[in-house]
Amino acid sequence: MPAKRIDGTALAAGIKAAAARDAQKLAEQGVRPRLAVFLVGDDPASAIYVRGKEKDCAESGIESVVERLPADTSEETLLERIYAENSNPHTHGILVQLPLPKQIDESRVIEAIDPAKDVDVFTPENVGLLQIGRPFLLPCTPAGCLHMIQSTGIDLAGKEAVVVGRSNIVGKPMAALLLAQNCTVTMCHSKTRDLAAKCASADILVAAIGRAKMITGDMIKPGAVVIDVGMNRDENDKLCGDVDYATASEVAGFITPVPGGVGPMTRAMLMANTIKAAGRLSAAFGL
Ligand code: NDP
Repeated sequence: MPAKRIDGTALAAGIKAAAARDAQKLAEQGVRPRLAVFLVGDDPASAIYVRGKEKDCAESGIESVVERLPADTSEETLLERIYAENSNPHTHGILVQLPLPKQIDESRVIEAIDPAKDVDVFTPENVGLLQIGRPFLLPCTPAGCLHMIQSTGIDLAGKEAVVVGRSNIVGKPMAALLLAQNCTVTMCHSKTRDLAAKCASADILVAAIGRAKMITGDMIKPGAVVIDVGMNRDENDKLCGDVDYATASEVAGFITPVPGGVGPMTRAMLMANTIKAAGRLSAAFGL
């Protein structure tokens, strides 16, 4: 039987609608949730992502302020702009669109963001809170993946989960979230031996690699939940994931498509995080 498709677009619409309702409640208390976005340089993909975030904010009742800075912006200038938003009581979320131009150290920039406004959940403080099981906000892409896994209704306790990819943005926090759900988690990467066998042992398989269609049907356990984080271009320049959907969907129990899977969920989780940060900060400010 072909796999059930997990519809990220539909699930994301529900999350954004809930965020919009929460934004309305904050507005009734005189608080307008506000997200400050920094876009440095003219990377076309980054510009598209930022426009998407502006649209999501508009639909979710969040004011978005995008500061577009030239490609030769110095690290000092960007840091100064971040510090200004850190101390602006009307700003509840701060996001720096990555990647940054070469002259700017990404780590220093991320570390400059006030953890209370770190809606991407990239700062060391928030990463640490996630690892010790006390997160305030959940990182957007892994949280979106977890939401999709939970939408299948499968009991996660004791399940074998395999995460392929160990980036700070996706793989590592994904493993932490699955562990917190009592899965037995295996993390794989480019030095993993016999990746196919590891994948084939997974009840839940998350692919966050960045290699078009690398995970094929023969690497998947029958009935598994397969979450495809990858965003790649295939040989015809068409958007595709890390999973070969055609063969994988013949074997998996549930599978996410690309596009229409993890991408919209990531964007929706950012809206939810911004509203949550606004709620906490406005309470802290007594607004
Ligand atoms: P990174 O490049 O930071 O990490 C890729 C990971 O994959 C690394 O850990 C790497 O291992 C591992 N890897 C690479 N080749 C292999 C291989 N042959 N076998 C096993 N593991 C391998 O990527 P990201 O985590 O940032 O992103 C992964 C993908 O997800 C990309 O396509 C990206 O565009 C997409 N993405 C999508 C998002 C969305 O919202 N839909 C959000 C974020 C990312 P090693 O550490 O050993 O090098």
